[in-house]
Amino acid sequence: MTQQASPGLAWRPPAFHVMTKPRGAICNLDCEYCYYLSKEMLYPGSRFRMADELLETYIRQYIEAQQAPVVTFAWQGGEPTLMGLPFFRRAVELQRKHAPPGKQVQNTLQTNGTTLTDEWCEFFREHDFLIGISLDGPRELHDRYRVDKGGKPTFDRVMRGMELLKSHRVEFNVLTTLHAGNADHPLEVYRFLRDEVGARFVQFIPIVERENDTGFQEGERLTERTISARRYGEFMCAVFDEWVRRDVGRVFVQMFDVALAAWLGERPGLCVFEETCGTALAMEHNGDLYSCDHFVEPRHRLGNIAETHMIELVGSEQQLRFGRAKRDTLPRYCRECEVRFVCNGGCPKDRVIRTPDGEPGLNYLCEGYKTFFTHIRRPMEMMASELRQGRPAANVMRVLDREERELAERFARAGRNDPCPCGSGRKFKKCHGA
Ligand code: SF4
Ligand code: SF4
Repeated sequence: MTQQASPGLAWRPPAFHVMTKPRGAICNLDCEYCYYLSKEMLYPGSRFRMADELLETYIRQYIEAQQAPVVTFAWQGGEPTLMGLPFFRRAVELQRKHAPPGKQVQNTLQTNGTTLTDEWCEFFREHDFLIGISLDGPRELHDRYRVDKGGKPTFDRVMRGMELLKSHRVEFNVLTTLHAGNADHPLEVYRFLRDEVGARFVQFIPIVERENDTGFQEGERLTERTISARRYGEFMCAVFDEWVRRDVGRVFVQMFDVALAAWLGERPGLCVFEETCGTALAMEHNGDLYSCDHFVEPRHRLGNIAETHMIELVGSEQQLRFGRAKRDTLPRYCRECEVRFVCNGGCPKDRVIRTPDGEPGLNYLCEGYKTFFTHIRRPMEMMASELRQGRPAANVMRVLDREERELAERFARAGRNDPCPCGSGRKFKKCHGA
């Protein structure tokens, strides 16, 4: 991370990411684990609609502030499509107006999929929007928590939206949250996304949800919807084992890409596993900018972009401190951990437990992270090695297949008193032959 400061700024990131909520927390659904619905309480009496003047201020400042050649706008909520299509037509028009020659503008939009129509999809296709769609697995797993305001299931409406995206050839990725309701079904979820939805890009997001009345990241009690750390690790291992044997280069799972980047010595590209935070912010419908989407709360409000240019807020001492705290508060247990190079202690919002020797600040998901990152070590090393030699990572599938066939043959030939082919050091009859 370049932290070269411009005059007046504590630092100046070359690029940063803002999740923008033009309709605030307003949504047509009532997903039980949603961390954002409660943010409506921060703006009592608001209409929750980004004004045209603010939209233009935002687009102009955001493009000015990015030093990278590609500027990516991320529209989120709540449910951003509740702003209506004219708002997004206007946004695209303003992006054209303010993007200087040579700067490329992209748009991503996260939706629950239930409001999509042919008209929306034609617009997305025409303007190359990348759509993220939330789907938690097959019907009964998805409907466990993803319900509408009347408590009704949403699966059929989401799948209808998904079909529309596909029929209009809109690029999409699927965001699947992992929680107590689907954690025990890794292969069922993964195969459904791959084979029935036809998803090529998948993100698995573990739900770690605090139990309190504020909706802020405070208190140590977690809800019963929260996934257990062990189950999370087992889920990711099971999906990885299937993926690494048949889907490398065909299906892209964000967590696996992040891990492969770490094994290649590159940056992960996902804030959760970066050493520091500070470049993934959130902006509310009225221009209030917050340190992070998961910390939209008064103490993490940096200011309002109608009063202070966004780059000054992103480059402020307050934001720099927020970002560094992720690294500087890491307990010794993490600093000495073998998989720290890929994990970096995970997201600070999930650091609610103590280390075995009693130090606070350990990530609730630690057990799962450790299990998963240890489990994938060898295939990751193999894929990284292939890539370094200019060969496709997908070669790992052939190597594993050959090894597993050879192992099966050795098992078939093993005598009762031979050493077990699994390498345990025990006799076959006392190990896999038992
Ligand atoms: S607090 Fe968590 S979600 Fe926010 S920027 Fe840091 S790692 Fe990312
Ligand atoms: S696996 Fe656990 S101990 Fe290791 S860095 Fe991650 S959170 Fe820390």
